[in-house]
Amino acid sequence: METLNLQPWVFRVEAIEGESISHFLGRFRRANDLTPTGLGKAIGVGGAIARWEKFRFNPLPSRQQLEALAKVVEVDADRLAQMLPPAGVGMKIDPIRLCAACYAESPCHKIEWQFKVTQGCQHHHLSLLSECPNCGARFKVPALWVDGWCQRCFTTFADMAERQKEI
Ligand SMILES: [Zn+2]
Ligand SMILES: [Zn+2]
Repeated sequence: METLNLQPWVFRVEAIEGESISHFLGRFRRANDLTPTGLGKAIGVGGAIARWEKFRFNPLPSRQQLEALAKVVEVDADRLAQMLPPAGVGMKIDPIRLCAACYAESPCHKIEWQFKVTQGCQHHHLSLLSECPNCGARFKVPALWVDGWCQRCFTTFADMAERQKEI
């Protein structure tokens, strides 16, 4: 029996409101057992997936690349574009930031947390966390957020909300 190299169908992953492309790509890849390189090859963008998962958008994903990605992930290219910074909005690549109160309501990393202009969460009027308030560990890139807790001390992201300051 021959084994097929190409999976004829994908496990679809629904986009979450406000979700960043890094978080979405991580969820899609895990659901479909794909590496960044494997997904990049499948859509013909080479190493770009790994860059996008780190919010390195220089250059920004092109419309053509988003359409190729849309075909594979089965999420509309316009919807994928919403997971990126709007034109002219600079990205803060480092550190990865978190509104734990948002995460408690909807477990995903939001793209707006990484905008240079973003000072805090406008929904909760809370400061964003740049590290675990319990042990000081930096957050991993959102593509690697699997369990929703600090990888060093296991404090859950949701529990970190009480350590956010009001703004
Ligand atoms: Zn929030
Ligand atoms: Zn920690």
